[in-house]
Amino acid sequence: MLSARSTSTQAGDVARADVAVVGAGPIGLAVAWRCAARGLRVTVHDPAPGSGASAVAAGMLAPVSEAYFGERELTGLLVESAARWPAFAAELTEASGVELGYRTEGTLLVGLTADDLAEARRLWAYQQEIGLPVTPLRPSELRDREPALAPRVRGGAFAATDHQVDPRLLLPALRIAAERAGAVLVPGPVRTLADLDAAVTVVAAGCGAAALTGLPVRPVKGQVLRLRAPGGATPGFRHVIRGYADGESVYLVPRSGGEVVVGATVEERRDTDVSAGAVLRLLRAAVDVLPELAEYDLVETAAGLRPGTPDNAPILGPLPGRPGVLAATGHHRHGIVLTPVTADLIADLVTTGRPDPLLAPFRPDRFTGPAAPDSAGSDPTAPATGAAAADAVPAAGGAGVSAAGDDDVAARTSEEDPWN
Ligand SMILES: Cc1cc2nc3c(=O)[nH]c(=O)nc-3n(C[C@H](O)[C@H](O)[C@H](O)COP(=O)(O)OP(=O)(O)OC[C@H]3O[C@@H](n4cnc5c(N)ncnc54)[C@H](O)[C@@H]3O)c2cc1C
Repeated sequence: MLSARSTSTQAGDVARADVAVVGAGPIGLAVAWRCAARGLRVTVHDPAPGSGASAVAAGMLAPVSEAYFGERELTGLLVESAARWPAFAAELTEASGVELGYRTEGTLLVGLTADDLAEARRLWAYQQEIGLPVTPLRPSELRDREPALAPRVRGGAFAATDHQVDPRLLLPALRIAAERAGAVLVPGPVRTLADLDAAVTVVAAGCGAAALTGLPVRPVKGQVLRLRAPGGATPGFRHVIRGYADGESVYLVPRSGGEVVVGATVEERRDTDVSAGAVLRLLRAAVDVLPELAEYDLVETAAGLRPGTPDNAPILGPLPGRPGVLAATGHHRHGIVLTPVTADLIADLVTTGRPDPLLAPFRPDRFTGPAAPDSAGSDPTAPATGAAAADAVPAAGGAGVSAAGDDDVAARTSEEDPWN
């Protein structure tokens, strides 16, 4: 495969990019689309676009049911991004001509046993306490909404604002939109950031970001199944269903075309093997919640690697000591829901040089500590975030990248890179 450097030699455009994006998953493609739409010259480097975690992701847009204890700042970002999804989906469909499978029926949260419900209610109480819209439902109200639920379901709640999109439609749409806006896809892996000759580099490589930047991004394995309703019929339920079933947690995501996604395990492993035990547990929990699934075809078993971080939140913004390099990675379980807000905030940062206040809790230097001194001559006591990044990013519209600025950024990026 071609390295970025050798590709840039062959393709003149690459050497002159304003923005080089590493990774063509949802995050990288959306950043590329937003930057290219603002008139910047953008390249996107990936040996296999869309082949990361998004290739198996369920596509739940779930700021409410994914709001966990101790993750207030992450929850705030999830809520913000989910609020952007309706406009983002409409704009992306318009730009690409692709329907995304974006659905807004909401999510039912259900429990089977008293223990399951006790665990779930503790979380729902917390979610209500922080102002999120979770509505407890009686069993009869649950069945009014989804008659196919198992008689064993003892109670639940409704999260009306937790929606879904189909990542297998989202990724092609993002790619088309990015390319129509002028972004150039460069097929090949980036082995070192020093190989990229652009004013700004955005590292959006999912789990691949760790090797490129030294950031603490680790793979968190998720096994997931895809079922299909008999004869290609529409699934016998409309809502996303998240169940607590005899101590197992499971989600069921119905697609209009007849597919049901059943997920997912959460494992500290880096392989993508599918285990019989995981398939057994997921299927048992799924059928316990919705018995008719036993009649569906099992059409796919798969595993993907979520880009996890120590605090489960993404890493967004200037990399300390690396002028001109921005991180947009570590989206863990939330990369699909966080796509709109990540793309907007990173494109804003690239074009204005000023980090939006929303980025503050997610800065890369929360893990790396103070920045290394900048040997290119800036104040060695100043962290290389914000102001230093502002030096390195192009002015709005992309026209403001001076030749001197380009050279300066490229030189500092390659010389100071302690991980390359
Ligand atoms: C089972 C499962 C279910 C999930 N369900 C949901 C869900 O319901 N909702 C939700 O919001 N999120 C979900 N996620 C999480 C979501 O898929 C990820 O957070 C999201 O895909 C991260 O996007 P990304 O673009 O950062 O990384 P990825 O999607 O992993 O893409 C990274 C890309 O970078 C490329 N790359 C890597 N290294 C290099 C390199 N050196 N050079 C060039 N390219 C490189 C890869 O080829 C890949 O194309 C799920 C994940 C899993 C595994």
